[in-house]
Amino acid sequence: MMNKEEALVVFSGGQDSTTCLFWAIRQFKKVYALSFLYGQKHQKEVELARAIAQDAGVEFEVMDVSFIAQLGQNSLTDTSMVMDEEKPEGSFPNTFVPGRNLFFLSIAAVYAREKGINHMVTGVSQTDFSGYPDCRDGFIKSLNVTLNLAMDEQFVIHTPLMWIDKAQTWALADELGVLDLIRNKTLTCYNGVMGDGCGHCPACKLRREGLEKYLSTK
Ligand code: ZN
Repeated sequence: MMNKEEALVVFSGGQDSTTCLFWAIRQFKKVYALSFLYGQKHQKEVELARAIAQDAGVEFEVMDVSFIAQLGQNSLTDTSMVMDEEKPEGSFPNTFVPGRNLFFLSIAAVYAREKGINHMVTGVSQTDFSGYPDCRDGFIKSLNVTLNLAMDEQFVIHTPLMWIDKAQTWALADELGVLDLIRNKTLTCYNGVMGDGCGHCPACKLRREGLEKYLSTK
């Protein structure tokens, strides 16, 4: 029997998924957070995620899916690769991890089913579209149908950030009362620097520009 008042958040401890975690806490009676080890260079992000989840009183679990790093090359898991700072014309930046959200959400669905949870939340957005096809709305809707067919369940995948940009994501964090927490305790930076980050990687630039834009409109 599925519990309609519980949700599972795919949770990395970054700005987006932390905003989603607190969004879910407001929407649902009980929230679970699931993090993944996929061979990322900065595995401490999982420990930051655990700390945020514990402080928020959310049940937290980590799944080891490091086989993803063995399947293909990308600069988030391969220490010998230099990270693309800009999106190359006509292709994805090498920070793209092929299949990542496909694996994460599929594993999350099986995990959710075991726990009797039918709501799942993910922080993907196609507004700040970095070239990642598995962050787009069409993919999420398609996978939602597939997961339901695969397990004969009625999962609902929520994407609260799908149509909002980084400035609006900061606005949402502020509305949820967690702007400072997200600003200081999350890790979005590709170079593994917490809070405001290294300042020059693509993730830091996007995050900072969004924050400046939001703060200037307050
Ligand atoms: Zn950075």
